Amino acid sequence: MSEGAIEHGIAADDVAESDLVTSRGVFRAVAFRDPVDGHEHLALVLGEQRADVLVRVHSECLTGDVFGALRCECGQQLDAAFDAIQREGSGIVVYLRGHEGRGIGLLAKLKTHALQDSAGLDTVDSATALGLPVDVRDFGPAARVLGHLGVRSVRLLTNNREKARALRAHGIRVTARVPLLVRPNDHNVRYLTAKRDRLGHELPHLQVPDAMTQRGEGALGQPRHDGRQLVERALTGDEDVERGVGEQLEG
Ligand SMILES: [Zn+2]
Repeated sequence: MSEGAIEHGIAADDVAESDLVTSRGVFRAVAFRDPVDGHEHLALVLGEQRADVLVRVHSECLTGDVFGALRCECGQQLDAAFDAIQREGSGIVVYLRGHEGRGIGLLAKLKTHALQDSAGLDTVDSATALGLPVDVRDFGPAARVLGHLGVRSVRLLTNNREKARALRAHGIRVTARVPLLVRPNDHNVRYLTAKRDRLGHELPHLQVPDAMTQRGEGALGQPRHDGRQLVERALTGDEDVERGVGEQLEG
């Protein structure tokens, strides 16, 4: 996909900046009201790098990010992104509001959770069963604020190739995708599996197909395991991939 132009700037009146001292250090906080979606978003900037910047474009998840919900991995991914940026000493977290439940909103998201719990539907089917779209997030605001910040190219912290494509379509040069893998738990392993199998996220640490669990033995005749045990085993040895293995993408 060719890179598009950044279509809209952000008006001066719609941006406010200040230093923000956090437990993770001092960031430059850049709040902005997006001219297209009208939401107030926030970019947290560490350092002065402008090319190949380590960037996390994070979709708001109130339940996961603020309240530590374990049914998704959003809060852990946000933490891991900050860890990676701190290790690098430079980077940007763009926190996008209005992205709850991949854009359906908080109320609708909780309705899908209820349906997942009562009917066993996954994150995709629970949305469509309610007549809701599976993903309506707009990453234009992230592209606009990165343009506003003078960022020329990014290494994107994501497991979602579609997110990289969306940013490029909005004119951002994505030079690499950096996996952001967090350890699954009992509560989110089904959600993560659905993300991998139905939404195309790259989650190589979920190595065990569900069919293997159901058959009761591994493809190579290993003893019976449940998928979660195998996932845990795959992650032992402190090989959590959020240490940042970049995958080169074409310009
Ligand atoms: Zn979440």
